[in-house]
Amino acid sequence: MLKLFFPHLCCGCDRRLSDGSQMLCVNCQNELPICFPININDNAFVRQFYGRLRLESAFSLLRFEKTNLTQQLLHQLKYKGQQQLGVFFALRMVEALKSTQNQPKFDLIIPVPLSNKRKRKRGYNQVDRFALSLGKHLQVPVLPKALIRKDGKRSLVKLGRKSRFQRAHHFEINKNFELAKGSHILLVDDIVTTGATLEACAKVLLNTRDIKLSFATIAISE
Ligand SMILES: [Zn+2]
Repeated sequence: MLKLFFPHLCCGCDRRLSDGSQMLCVNCQNELPICFPININDNAFVRQFYGRLRLESAFSLLRFEKTNLTQQLLHQLKYKGQQQLGVFFALRMVEALKSTQNQPKFDLIIPVPLSNKRKRKRGYNQVDRFALSLGKHLQVPVLPKALIRKDGKRSLVKLGRKSRFQRAHHFEINKNFELAKGSHILLVDDIVTTGATLEACAKVLLNTRDIKLSFATIAISE
C-alpha cells in the first residue's frame, strides 16, 4: 500500500527500484563518479587551499559536472527533500575512507550551516544528515549548531574573490560552544567549487582556537 504513495524510484534515473536497492538502482550506483581512491592529505582539493589555509586533509566522494549524475543527486538532496541521500553518501564515504592509507582521526564534525532564513524556507540543511551519518559511523560527535550563518546580500556571491571574502564575516561561532585546543575538526559541506564558503568557516574556527582542520564534501567541482 505504501508504495502507492511513496513509489520506490531511483533518485538518479527515476526508474522503479528492484527490491533491495535503496535510493539508487544498480546502474546508477555503478555510474557514480567516485573520487576515491585518493590521497586525502594531498590532492586537488587540498591544493586549492595552498597559501590560504593549513589543512590536514580534504576529500570529496563524487565528481561534479553540470550534466552528470552527481548534479541530479545533489538537486534531489537539496530541493526535493531526498534527505536519505545524505545517509547513502555518508555510508559510501565511510567505506571509501576505510580503504585509504592514512585513515584520519577526527574529534568533531561540523556541517557548514545555512542561514536561519534559508533553513526555514527549505525546511532542512541538506548537509546535516550527511554529517550526522558520517559521525555515527566514524564514531565522532557532530555539532550542527557550532557555527551560525548570518544572511549576506545575495548579489555578493557573483562578485570577485574579495567580495566573497566579505561574506566570511557572516559566519560566527555559537557562543555556547567551546573548541578544545588541538582538536581535529572535520568541516563538512555538500559541494566545493571555489572553496570560498569552506574558507570563510575555516577562518572563523582557526581564528578562535589552535585546532587542526580537514574538509569533506559530498561533491567536488573540478
Ligand atoms: Zn537509476
